[in-house]
Amino acid sequence: MMRIGLAMLQGARHEHEEAILSIAEEFEKSIEVVHLRRAEDLNTSIHGLVLPGGESTTMRIASRSEGLLDSIYNWMEAHPNRPVLGTCAGAILLAMPSDGRQPFIRAKISRNAWGRQRQSFEASIDVTLSRVDTQGASIARKPDAFGHTPLTVGDVDLQAEKDAFPGVFIRAPRFDNTGVNCEIIAQFGDEIVGVRDGSKCAVTFHPELTNDRRFHAWLLNEIAALSPTD
Ligand code: GLN
Repeated sequence: MMRIGLAMLQGARHEHEEAILSIAEEFEKSIEVVHLRRAEDLNTSIHGLVLPGGESTTMRIASRSEGLLDSIYNWMEAHPNRPVLGTCAGAILLAMPSDGRQPFIRAKISRNAWGRQRQSFEASIDVTLSRVDTQGASIARKPDAFGHTPLTVGDVDLQAEKDAFPGVFIRAPRFDNTGVNCEIIAQFGDEIVGVRDGSKCAVTFHPELTNDRRFHAWLLNEIAALSPTD
């Protein structure tokens, strides 16, 4: 049984849970999503983490009373091979942990660097996370239980253009192109929008708001590849 911790700090959490459970079903893996609300919720039986988007300053303040963020960072330092997916504000928390800790992602990032909420946007981006990493996760475009067709961006034909990804940028941070010292896994034109540093993946967009499960598939596959001593 794989156990994935979901930081219930603030922001888009339930969509991540849905994404994890649906890709687990597709891969026929049994997964438990553990809601992390306080320091005690984090322990060695958790194999991987998701740090969702939201407002990183609010997350830092909100987690102070329960010590959650601190214990998440301690867990990451204690288990360096266990994978973590940070989206948007979660990417900021990985790249700028503060309190004198070493960054978990070696990439410079600036908050709100696309502008205000109104400047949020959707765009087709190029994802180079390899097909092997994602085990050909399906890119579902079927209507959901409410008959709603999942979000797609523009007229991108995701079946034909296999590596295009619907990027949803909500008051997103920006990587500094010259300050990235790890693997680039997603680009919007020349702009770097996703990076991987070993077992940590940080993207400035919101994959959980689309039905493209490649990033959640990556997380599951990283966990499946862990050794018992990790
Ligand atoms: N603007 C947010 C921050 O700086 C990030 C936005 C998001 O996660 N959607 O923390």
